[in-house]
Amino acid sequence: MKLTNLYIDGKWVESASRARFDVVNPSNERVIASVASADLSDADRALDAAERAMALWRSETPRYRSEVLRRAFNLMSERIEHFAHLISLENGKASADAVGEASYAAEFFRWFSEEAVRAEGTISHAPSSGARILVQQKPAGIGLLITPWNYPAAMGTRKIAPALAAGCAVIIKPAAETPLTMLALMPVLEEAGVPNGLVNVLPTTHPGALVDHIMDDPRIRVVSFTGSTSVGKELLRNAAGQVLKPAMELGGNAPLIVFEDADLDTAVEGAFQAKMRNLGEACTAANRIYLHENIAAEFISEFVARMSKLKLGDGTDQRSDVGPLVNEETRTKVARLVEDAVAKGAIVELGGYAPEGPGYFYTPTVLSNVPDDADCIHDEIFGPVAVIQSFTDQDQVICRANDTEYGLVAYVFSKNMKRALNVCEQLEFGMVGLNRGIVSDPAAPFGGVKQSGLGREGGKDGMLEFMETQYISAAW
Ligand code: NAD
Repeated sequence: MKLTNLYIDGKWVESASRARFDVVNPSNERVIASVASADLSDADRALDAAERAMALWRSETPRYRSEVLRRAFNLMSERIEHFAHLISLENGKASADAVGEASYAAEFFRWFSEEAVRAEGTISHAPSSGARILVQQKPAGIGLLITPWNYPAAMGTRKIAPALAAGCAVIIKPAAETPLTMLALMPVLEEAGVPNGLVNVLPTTHPGALVDHIMDDPRIRVVSFTGSTSVGKELLRNAAGQVLKPAMELGGNAPLIVFEDADLDTAVEGAFQAKMRNLGEACTAANRIYLHENIAAEFISEFVARMSKLKLGDGTDQRSDVGPLVNEETRTKVARLVEDAVAKGAIVELGGYAPEGPGYFYTPTVLSNVPDDADCIHDEIFGPVAVIQSFTDQDQVICRANDTEYGLVAYVFSKNMKRALNVCEQLEFGMVGLNRGIVSDPAAPFGGVKQSGLGREGGKDGMLEFMETQYISAAW
């Protein structure tokens, strides 16, 4: 039961208002937990705790911080099944996806335990004055971390690990649909040696009011958000109040281009992964699949065969390949996008409906011949619907791929490396998967351009989001 309270200063506490909310299992629509909902005075307690903890943590050696993070990696890795089960329960995703997420989430602790000891600076001669220019990185301050429901573990650890490595304390506001996984991580961090108050978790049903209140506090210096572009823009406006350092991982509308010289099996498998990983509930999901006309028919036939093998079922059941969507609202949006595309002339090659019974299920769906004016070409689908279009001309397909306000990730399949790299460079996206349907890697800088966000998570850049550059002009 303690895992359903707020986690402040290393303690499990009721919210000051005693308010609670229900968490529902999307596979069967049953309530699985009642969780405390944080209010403004809880936020104040978390801020005080974070301030105290950070004062000590930032003065520990990088090696000490690194070893705590390494233990967090070891402990989380020993409990992958436990975390995967919890992720499936509250998010609905199939257990293979959940195991993948839990392992990926743990890897951020390993990567940033290694990065914690590599914060570098420089010393150089000022060209004219003769002074020395010392440049170093310092912890930026307390971070407010706001995470979405689609990856309840990984979107949290991708922020917590670099923040702790940098020497910062954090307050996490997980999505109300999926707060349990993040709460369950806290005993692991305690056991790893994370001091009380350094990491605090505040689930709430009033994110706007709580987040505004925290962002108004001058002790917060970083706001790191993963979620929709609309909420991201609101946070950017609010961040101006205290001139906070923003890190924004927002929506996507990924194009996936298959040229006629691609290895077809690789392209089908890559497209399948890019579309169906996490049931399409991913900012990296292939939203638009562009096939060269000469290979379109064969690709569609193989892709439909691959998709039609998938078994729908309860996310926690090992026999299910795919689980339900996270809630009714998401399912309604997916169904509306399919209806709109079909009304405008798309052909349903597979699926296209919600099965009867409890749970927010939607069948794996393939649509071909989708017109450019269909809403699913412009909106993030966030569901198991593959949208296929064809092309003949390289320059034209690059133009169509770039014709979106988003710029998170694109995918290119071709065996002609000269052509492939040339196309990658012309794509206006922060990341490109080349002959691969997965780009996420803790060692790589994850992030987008245009309305997909600001900043990068993972890689060398991830820790810099929680650091400030200080320059000392010295004479000696
Ligand atoms: P969302 O923006 O509705 O919610 C994300 C988080 O923000 C949740 O914790 C939510 O409680 C909180 N929130 C909602 N309204 C708020 C407000 N007014 N003020 C402060 N916080 C608020 O997004 P979602 O539906 O949970 O997640 C789906 C979106 O996230 C998609 O657009 C997806 O592309 C994006 N996403 C992006 C990445 C990435 O790395 N770029 C990764 C995963 C998801």
